[in-house]
Amino acid sequence: MGAFTCPPKPRTATLRTILDNKSKERLDSGLILWFPSPQSFTGEDCLELHVHGGVAVVSAVLTSLGKFPSTRQAEPGEFTKRSFLNGKLDITEVEGLADVIHSETEVQRKQAYRQMTGELSALYNNWRDIMIRSCAHVEAYIDFSEEENIEDDVISTVMTSIADLISQLESYLTDGRRGERLRDGVHVAVLGRPNVGKSSLMNYLTKRPVAIVSDVEGTTRDLIESTLDINGYPVVVVDTAGLRETGDKVEKEGVARAISRSELCDLLIIMVDISEDNSSDSILTLIGQQVHQLLDQHFQAERDLKDKSLLIVVNKVDKLDSPALQSLTCRTRGAEAISDSKNISDSSAKGRTTSPSSVQDVDSTESGILKVDVLGSPVPVVFTSLTHSIGLHHFLAELTQLLAALCADPTSECLSVTQARHRTHLDNCLDFLREAIESLDTDVVVAAENLRLASGEIGRITGRISTEDILDVIFKEFCIGK
Ligand code: GDP
Ligand code: ZN
Repeated sequence: MGAFTCPPKPRTATLRTILDNKSKERLDSGLILWFPSPQSFTGEDCLELHVHGGVAVVSAVLTSLGKFPSTRQAEPGEFTKRSFLNGKLDITEVEGLADVIHSETEVQRKQAYRQMTGELSALYNNWRDIMIRSCAHVEAYIDFSEEENIEDDVISTVMTSIADLISQLESYLTDGRRGERLRDGVHVAVLGRPNVGKSSLMNYLTKRPVAIVSDVEGTTRDLIESTLDINGYPVVVVDTAGLRETGDKVEKEGVARAISRSELCDLLIIMVDISEDNSSDSILTLIGQQVHQLLDQHFQAERDLKDKSLLIVVNKVDKLDSPALQSLTCRTRGAEAISDSKNISDSSAKGRTTSPSSVQDVDSTESGILKVDVLGSPVPVVFTSLTHSIGLHHFLAELTQLLAALCADPTSECLSVTQARHRTHLDNCLDFLREAIESLDTDVVVAAENLRLASGEIGRITGRISTEDILDVIFKEFCIGK
C-alpha cells in the first residue's frame, strides 16, 4: 500500500500514471485494478497494472517493481496455488480451472467450467460429510453404548446411509469413462483395405492434406495422427496403412501398427469400396461381407472389438450405377444424398444393377440411417464420395452422434468423473465403504476406521488432505501468471 499516494477505489479500473519507484520518472500511463484482501483471486491483496504492451514499457515497469524489497516473478501456477492455500479454491476447482484454460473444444469447455465453479466439489464434499457423520455416530456408539442415552438404532441408521452411498458411488463410477474421454479426447482410427479412400477421409476431416492420397496401394505405411474439433468434441484421429496381407516388410509393420493402435481406440471408422464388386448380391450383403472379411482377417473379434463403437463408410459411391443406388434411396438418409447429387446421374460405372427387392435387407431406423449387423450389434452405414463431396454432411452427423454417445453430456443434470486421479480415490473409497458395511455387524471399531479411511480418500480428491508432491504436479500444469 505504501506505493499509492492515495489508494484507488477497490475493484474499479482507474487511469493512473506509473512512476519509477526510486527516480519517480514517469514510465507509463495505464489502468490499475486494486483488489484488497480477501476479495481477490488469491485471497491476498492484489494489484493489477494494465500497461502498454511494448517490450521497453513492460521491462521498465518490471525493473521498477524489482526495486521493491520483496518482489519477484511468480512461479508457474503460483497465483492459483495461493488461492488454494488460502481456501479460495479446492483441488477439483483448481483442476477445473486448468481444464478451462486448456480446453480446445466447446463441449470440453462446458465440462471444465462446471468443475471450475465447484459442482464436483459440492458432490464430493456432500459424500464426505455423510461419511464423517456416520463415522462420528459409530464412534459415539463405541464410546457410550454402555450408557442408555445412545439410541439402539444408531448402527442400523449408519448402515442404511452407507448402503445408499455405496450404490450412488457404484452408479457414478459405471459411466463408461465418458467424462474422462471428453477431457482427454476420443480416439478414432480410420481402417480399411488399401485404396478405399482412408487418407482422403483423413484430409477431409483435418481440412488439409496431412496424408498422401494416391492410387498406389500401400502408400500410407505409418500412423498419421491429428487432433481435431468435430462439432465441439475433441477427437484424435489416426489414418492407418491399408489392411491387407503383404510381403513388403515396411507395409507389414504398418498393418501391425494399424491393428495395435485400433485396440486403443474408442471408435473405428471402417471404410469399404463396393464399386469394384461385380457380384449380383445386394449392396447391403456386399457391405456386410467386406466388413466381416476385414474384421475376421485382422482382429480377434471378441477381444479386440468388444466395447468399440463402429461406423461403416461406403466410399466411392460416384462410381456406382444409378439403379444400385435407387434401391437404397427410398429408405436411407445417406443414400438420399447420393441420388440427389447430380454427380452420379450419368455414372458410367460397372453396370451392376441391384433389384429393388434388395431394400428388404436394409434395416433402416427411424432416423433413416442404414444399419448392418456386426457381431450382433447394428452398426450405422453412411455413403460417401470424397472426390465428389457426396454424403459428407451425413457422415459428419453420424460421427457426431457416436462421439456424443462416447462422451459425457455436460449439459445434463448428472456429473461425470473427469479424471483418472479422481477415479482411483473413488474406487478406494468404495472399497473402504464396503469393508465398513461388512464390519458394522461384527466389529464397530474396524467399521469406524474404514469410514475414516473412506472419507480420507474423498479428502484427497478435493485437497482437504494433500501432499506436496500431488500439489506440485497439479500446479505445474499452469502457465506463469495464473
Ligand atoms: P487409402 O489408400 O485408403 O488411403 O486411399 P486414398 O485416400 O489414398 O485414395 C485412393 C485413391 O482413390 C486415390 O486415387 C483417390 O483419389 C481415390 N478416391 C478416394 N475417394 C474417392 C471417391 O470417393 N471416389 C473416387 N472415384 N475415387 C476416390
Ligand atoms: Zn492412405
